[in-house]
Amino acid sequence: MKIYISADFEGTTGITERNQCFPGKPEFESARRLWIGDINAVVDGLLSAGAHEIIVNEAHAAMNYMLPELLHPRASFISGYVKIDNQMEGIDTSFSGAVLMGHAKAGTAGAVLNHTYVMRDVYEIRINGHSIGEIGLNALWAAYHNVPIILVIGDDKAAAEALECIPDVETAIVKTGLSQFAAHCLPMVSTREIITTAAKRAYGRIAHVKPVALPKLFCMELDFSLTEIAKLCSFIPGVELASPRTVVFTSTDYRELQHIRVICTNLALAIVKDHF
Ligand SMILES: [Zn+2]
Repeated sequence: MKIYISADFEGTTGITERNQCFPGKPEFESARRLWIGDINAVVDGLLSAGAHEIIVNEAHAAMNYMLPELLHPRASFISGYVKIDNQMEGIDTSFSGAVLMGHAKAGTAGAVLNHTYVMRDVYEIRINGHSIGEIGLNALWAAYHNVPIILVIGDDKAAAEALECIPDVETAIVKTGLSQFAAHCLPMVSTREIITTAAKRAYGRIAHVKPVALPKLFCMELDFSLTEIAKLCSFIPGVELASPRTVVFTSTDYRELQHIRVICTNLALAIVKDHF
């Protein structure tokens, strides 16, 4: 079967703080290799369980951090930006399952690097009144293509969030969050084994894991840090200002909803970059 991997950075073995997550910082090069090591551990587990094709989509920041010479030779990858389908670029109905390497949503106490797309400037995203993070939103995106999430990898808080929104999903915990910027990390040799074992188990359970339920109507609210982010987003047709820092958008089509979300969070990044 063909498996999709959405590979974000913050849930990786040994990563606890922002300097590890962005190029230009001395800590980044080591973190990047740890990230690829976690990806390879997933690929190893999936292949040994019988997967025949694996595609890795880079899902962090500029999405161009892969070192192809270090990636498992049996995996192909999607790299670069802009990708309008973002953390789930390239997923379609040909996949039998998807793996998320992720982190807990913004505002989760004790969760390593908790955020929702933009660290300081997106306070919360809600769908139909329920708070949701990247894990839940990506699970809905996979469900749009009738693909189940079979495994989520990250800290203990990401695993708990995954189990809340994706019943029966397999999880692999590589660290225990102590704060937003601190964790008790397991050594790399242990996390490789944990991830590979979980990937094997997840692949073996694909038939028993269903895509998450897609509501018929989606009402998405986004709370921003700055009133000007919300105001600019409200100029997008169909997006309304619900309060000075909150916009709301309604659609029956999850794809449309996610595309509006991508535009809004990119506007937030652009405004913050320009003015702060
Ligand atoms: Zn990230």
